[in-house]
Amino acid sequence: MTNKKSDFVRPDGRKLDELRPIEAKVGVVPNADGSAMYKSGDTVAIAAVYGPKKMHPQHNQDPSKGQLRCDYNMLSFSVTERIRPGKNRRAMEISEITKWALEPVLLLDKYPNQVVDVFINIIQADAGTRTAGINAAAMALAHAGIPMRGMVSSVAVGKLDKTLVVDLTKEEEDYHEGEGPTDIPISMTDDGKITHMQLDGKIGVTQLQEAVDLAKGACAKIYEIQKKALKDAIDLENGGKK
Ligand code: UDP
Repeated sequence: MTNKKSDFVRPDGRKLDELRPIEAKVGVVPNADGSAMYKSGDTVAIAAVYGPKKMHPQHNQDPSKGQLRCDYNMLSFSVTERIRPGKNRRAMEISEITKWALEPVLLLDKYPNQVVDVFINIIQADAGTRTAGINAAAMALAHAGIPMRGMVSSVAVGKLDKTLVVDLTKEEEDYHEGEGPTDIPISMTDDGKITHMQLDGKIGVTQLQEAVDLAKGACAKIYEIQKKALKDAIDLENGGKK
C-alpha cells in the first residue's frame, strides 16, 4: 500500500508528511563552547558542547585523531510519569547512536589526544527525543566552531498500521490498531547521506524506501531551520549587522 491512497487521520490532525512546529536556537548555555535548543512539538532538547580539550582518562586518548563523546539524558521532570534519569540502558544506547549519527561529519584529525564532549538533556519528552537531541547537538557543534563537513538533521518516520507518517508523537508511537506502530529514526547529512537509522517494528523493503524518502524531505526542512538559527546567532554576535 502506498501513502498516496491513504485516508489515515493523525490524532493531532497533521498531514502525513508534516513535522510538528519546530523552534531552534543556539547559544542557550553561555558557559559552554557551543550550545543549542531544538524543540519539536512538546519534545525539547538542549545540547551543550565542551572542547576540543585533552581526553581524560589518558588511556582513552587516540594520538591519530580527536574523539567525540556523547551523553544523552532524559531529565526526571521531562515526562509526567516518574522516570529514573541518568545512566540506564536506554540512555547509554541513545548516547552511542548520537555519536554514530554525528561522527561522519566531524573533522577531528586536527585534534590528536583530544575529546569533544556533547551533553544532551531532554527537558520535555513527547517521543522523538533522540532525533531532537541529534538536531540540537549538530547545531551546538557548529556553534562551538568544530570543523564539520556539513550539518546533520534527524527525524523519526513511523508506520502506523500500514500508513507512513513523519515525526511521531508519543500517542502515535503507542498506536495499537492493525499492524501497530513501527518507529524508524533516521539522521542524514544536508546532502542526503544517511549517518544513522534504527528500526523498531516491521516494514517491507518498498515501504522502507518510501520512509527514507519521507525522512529526506523532512530533514531538508529541519536543515533550513538549523541553518537559520546558526545564522541568526552569527548576525547577533556581529551586532545585528547582516
Ligand atoms: N518515555 C517515557 N519514559 C521513559 C522513556 C521514554 O515516558 O523512561 C517516553 C518519552 O516520551 C519518549 C518516548 O517514550 O520520548 C519514546 O521513547 P523512545 O525510547 O522510543 O525514544 P525517542 O522516541 O524519545 O527517541
